[in-house]
Amino acid sequence: MNTIEQRIQKRAYELGYEKCGIISIDLMDGYAEKFNERIEKVPKSKFFYQNQERLVNVKEIYPWAKSVVVLTAKYGKYKVPEELKGHIAKAYLFDTRIDQETKEYQNNRDLEKYMQELGLKVETNQKFGVVGMRWAALQAGLGIIRKNNFLYTENGSWVHLEAWVTDKEMELKETNNVVKCPENCNRCREACPTKSLSAPFTMSPMECISFLTTFGGRNLPQEPLSKAFGSCIYGCDICQDACPMNKGKWKEEEEFPGLKELASFLTPDNILNMDEKFYIEKVQPKFFYVSPEDFWKWKVNVLNYMRNNYKEDYKKSIIAACDNENSKISEMANSICLELSLK
Ligand code: SF4
Ligand code: SF4
Repeated sequence: MNTIEQRIQKRAYELGYEKCGIISIDLMDGYAEKFNERIEKVPKSKFFYQNQERLVNVKEIYPWAKSVVVLTAKYGKYKVPEELKGHIAKAYLFDTRIDQETKEYQNNRDLEKYMQELGLKVETNQKFGVVGMRWAALQAGLGIIRKNNFLYTENGSWVHLEAWVTDKEMELKETNNVVKCPENCNRCREACPTKSLSAPFTMSPMECISFLTTFGGRNLPQEPLSKAFGSCIYGCDICQDACPMNKGKWKEEEEFPGLKELASFLTPDNILNMDEKFYIEKVQPKFFYVSPEDFWKWKVNVLNYMRNNYKEDYKKSIIAACDNENSKISEMANSICLELSLK
């Protein structure tokens, strides 16, 4: 007869999860220490981490919680549309957290229902996690955390993490054969265009392109780092793409639901000319870090991309954006015209 832990794990494997481990909630105590250590190393990041304090206080928020079920789901199997490569980070292209069309989203719901049927009280937060998930995955033996701060399994860093707290004391650790970062490797750090990754396991979110092009840092005309964004429009994969431990791990085997159809609308010109209705209906539900009201952030990101990768074809769009009714967009476009003498 299988234990309850084994039944949960078996169900997870049947659904297609890559790994599933279960740990005592007490193992999350060490996360608080890591969390504070991160802030001490980069004090200016305190503001960024403030809204993640709920992850540190998980025992207070869920006093009934006794264990954590943590899982990985591989996403490095999807075909990346050519026109989006290097512009939109892959974790966002293949985000399954709220996309009900994806089997990963449905698996999440299925597994939750299964645990409830087993008599467990469970809680998750599909969007932003209910616990520090990389830490939980490390404790549960799912993989290791590399110097670029990502969790790696045998499939590299191209895995989504999911977790639940439960009201039952349980433990079932996974095993992995992922080897540590080579002592002298610093390719991720060298590749980081903004030097946000300043030392092993040390990243300043306030300088990270992923933060600055999604939910943070909006003042791109006055942001000196924006010139280092290269071809990134939304998110950044550079420190993962540069990592030798990810070499050959991405296998373009499957179509992601709806992405092929959406891809042509997400080219720089098409984003800049996109109307709000289309954005709200077709784009925002997928890229939920930027709210419907903040649609202008995408356009500012695109203008920044056009400046960094300037070609004559962009001139008309940049000049037209100078008269945009949104002051952030027009400010960005005007500053580019000035800088590149476009008018
Ligand atoms: S995501 Fe990009 S900007 Fe952020 S640390 Fe990695 S390489 Fe640097
Ligand atoms: S690039 Fe090198 S140091 Fe950085 S995460 Fe990969 S193996 Fe580790």
